[in-house]
Amino acid sequence: MYILWILLMGKTRRYLNIILIVYIAAIFNLGKLYSVDSRQTYDGKTAVILCFHDINGEGKYSIKQEEFVEILNLVKNKYEVYSLKTWYEKVSNGEKFTRPPLVLTFDDGYDSIFKYVIPTLTKFQFGATFFIYLQKYDNNPDAYVQMGDLPEIFEIGSHSFSHADMEKLYKQNRKQFYKEIFLSRKKLEFLVGKAVISWAWPYGYYNQDMEVMAKKAGYTIQVNTDYKNTHNEMEGSSFSRYTIQNPDPVSQAREILAKNVLR
Ligand SMILES: [Zn+2]
Repeated sequence: MYILWILLMGKTRRYLNIILIVYIAAIFNLGKLYSVDSRQTYDGKTAVILCFHDINGEGKYSIKQEEFVEILNLVKNKYEVYSLKTWYEKVSNGEKFTRPPLVLTFDDGYDSIFKYVIPTLTKFQFGATFFIYLQKYDNNPDAYVQMGDLPEIFEIGSHSFSHADMEKLYKQNRKQFYKEIFLSRKKLEFLVGKAVISWAWPYGYYNQDMEVMAKKAGYTIQVNTDYKNTHNEMEGSSFSRYTIQNPDPVSQAREILAKNVLR
């Protein structure tokens, strides 16, 4: 009887061992499945690029500070938020993204950039690109020192000398076109003390021949305002941006983000 019990126990033990092994294997596999899910990655080649102007609530292109923060909160924890330069370099280096990339850009260099936008983005730890046209700072050379001192998550790009209609210049005054696109980059680099690799077409006016010129002028990245997602044509053509404007910029941002579920 005792021997039978020992044998049974032995069998039971074996069964228990088998159950235990199957159980551990199941947990291990589930763990593997779960970890694949939780570590889903993105190649980041498709991005949503937002374009803001002033943040003081006055005029069509100037949204209120509280609306701006609401938009940042919509984006928080859902996207990796970068400057154009950082996004571009990560994709070019083949780095993976744990969340879809979202790029913030600010055109024309309004005062609110320094007073409000940069401190706010710093709190959120979001990067951004600021497009400056040089005439704006003719009487404010200190602004260039401030720009040069910004941490690497922030990028300064050129938006021409005089916020010119580049398409018109391309057709009618090629010399001025070169000045606006090429010399603005050189001067900005000199004043800020950093390489300038990004260009934003003023008013969003551009064509394919002009894009070739921008590349020849030394820009790695160029952006328009064509209001659609930017895809992975990483060479030579300009990236599209969504301009955020009044009225109701928060709903507008919500719609853009809802219809662009990035993979
Ligand atoms: Zn502009």
